[in-house]
Amino acid sequence: VARVKVKFPTINTYIYTCQQRPDNAFFSSGDPLFLEQFWREHAADSGILVAGWHRMSYSFSDQTYISQQLDAHIRKLHNVVGNAVTDGKFLVFGAGSTQLLYAAVHALSLPPDNTSSSSSPAQVVASIPYYALYEMQTDFFDSRESNFQGDAAILINNSDVTTNIIEFVTSPNNPDGQLNKPLLKGSNVKTIYDRAYFWPHFTAIPNPPAHEDLTIFTISKLTGHAGSRFGWALIKDERVYERMTRYMQLNSMGVSRDTQLRALKLLKVVLDGGGREIFKFGYEKMKKRWERLTNTLSLSNRFSLQKVSSQDCAFFRTPREPTPAYAWVKCEREDDEDCFEVMKSANIIGRAGAVFRADNHYVRLSLIRGDDDFDILINNLHKLVSEEGGVS
Ligand code: PMP
Repeated sequence: VARVKVKFPTINTYIYTCQQRPDNAFFSSGDPLFLEQFWREHAADSGILVAGWHRMSYSFSDQTYISQQLDAHIRKLHNVVGNAVTDGKFLVFGAGSTQLLYAAVHALSLPPDNTSSSSSPAQVVASIPYYALYEMQTDFFDSRESNFQGDAAILINNSDVTTNIIEFVTSPNNPDGQLNKPLLKGSNVKTIYDRAYFWPHFTAIPNPPAHEDLTIFTISKLTGHAGSRFGWALIKDERVYERMTRYMQLNSMGVSRDTQLRALKLLKVVLDGGGREIFKFGYEKMKKRWERLTNTLSLSNRFSLQKVSSQDCAFFRTPREPTPAYAWVKCEREDDEDCFEVMKSANIIGRAGAVFRADNHYVRLSLIRGDDDFDILINNLHKLVSEEGGVS
C-alpha cells in the first residue's frame, strides 16, 4: 500500500524548541489551572480517601472496567448542560481523550468485515488550524489502516468514494475557539467530534444538543483535572463501540479504577445545584480574562485576535460573551513572519501557528492557566504593545 507522508517539519520540532527556555513565562500549554480556586473552595467535598483494601480488583463488581455510577453521572451531566444526547449511546472510557482519539481512528478505519488487507488505508484529515495530536498519533502509530492526509479542504471535491475518510471536527476548535462543523460529507466519510471544550466555561451551548455518531469529551477542560487522565466517548454504533472497547482492553485493560473514583467524586460536585456553580465560576473567570486581553490588544495595530461572536446559550438561557480557551493572535505586519519569535522576544512563549499547520503569522496563547500566569501574560503583552510605534 502506497503511503503518502505529509511534507512538513514534524510538529515535535516546534513543540520541543518552544520548551528550551526555562527563564521565560509559558503560555504554550493548555494546562487548565483556571479552575484551581474553585476546587480550593471545595477542598473537603471534592476530596477522596481510599483505604488500602479498597477496589483492588481488575474489574468492578459487574465484571466490566467501567463504573456504572460514573457512567450514570456522565449521562446526567450531559442532560443538565444540554450539550449532548446520551440516550441510546454507548460509553467508552479512556486515559484522557488522548487515548480515545486514536481508539476512534482505529475503530473507524477498519472496513465493515474486519478484513483490512485488501482495502486502501483510511485518510485522516482535519481543518487547518487543527490540534497537532491527531496528526502526531496517526503518524506515530503508523498503522496499515490509516494515513494522516492533512487539511480536510484538500478532499472537498474528491470523487473517490471507495476510500474511507475520517474527519476530525474540533468544536470549539483548538486553537481558534470556533464551533467547527464537518467539511466533508458522503457515505465513505466518518466524523470524530472532539468536544474537549464544549462546556459553558468556553462557549455558548447551542440548542439542540449534539447528537453525533462519535463524540469525545474529557474532564481535563471540564473540571481542570488534566492529570487524572479521564475522558469518554459517546458512540451511536454498536460495532464501533465494540472496536473501541477492544482497543481499550488490549491497550490498558480500561481506565484506572482510582481515576474513575476521583472523576465520580468531582462530577458529583459539578452536578451539585445543577452545575450552576462551577460553570458560572468558569465563565466569569474566562470572561474577565478575555476582557483584559482584548483591552490590552485594543491599543495595538500590530496584533489582532480571532473574532468570536456572542451567542445565545441554552445552558445559561441568555446571550453570553465570548470566552475562548486560547487567544489565536495574528501578527499583522508582513515582516513579522514568525509571530512566535515576536512574542518570545517579549518573554511570552506561545505555540507557533505552524504547530497547527497554519501560517506563522499566528501564535496561540493559552488563557486557561493559573491566575499568576495569566497576570504575567497580560503584563508582558502590555509592555510589548506599549513599545509599538505611536502608542504611548
Ligand atoms: N482534544 C483537544 C482539542 C485538546 O485541546 C486536548 C488537550 N489539550 C485534548 C484533546 C487532550 O486532552 P486529554 O487527553 O487531557 O483529555
